[in-house]
Amino acid sequence: MANWHCVKQCGACCHLDPTERPDLAEYLTPEELELYLGLVGEDGWCINFNHLTRECQIYSSRPRFCRVEPEVFQDLYGIESNDLNDFAVKCCQQQIAGVYGNLSLEMQRFNRAISISSGK
Ligand code: SF4
Ligand code: SF4
Repeated sequence: MANWHCVKQCGACCHLDPTERPDLAEYLTPEELELYLGLVGEDGWCINFNHLTRECQIYSSRPRFCRVEPEVFQDLYGIESNDLNDFAVKCCQQQIAGVYGNLSLEMQRFNRAISISSGK
């Protein structure tokens, strides 16, 4: 089984364009939704995303909905910690496919990283 972890030089999940995430209001509180929408720049990317380094500029204080942590996923999506890994892998693959494409280098790097970390 692939072991999820975030890879460098990606940032696909920081592409926040709400038109691509129509069910936001189903899992975010009204306050979080407001915060989320306030982060979306004109190009659809988060205003805190550094495009050069592809890193979050407020990483240590990023919002709860940016965190891949068991309690956050349980709370937002009803995902049990046993299922967190598979769910997070699918989320990343979906997001990377949408932003960079299924055949992108980003997708290849992600898939390679999760395969290597699972020993495959
Ligand atoms: S999409 Fe996944 S791998 Fe890419 S930056 Fe976000 S969490 Fe990391
Ligand atoms: S706050 Fe940081 S982690 Fe969250 S979407 Fe923006 S750049 Fe990405």
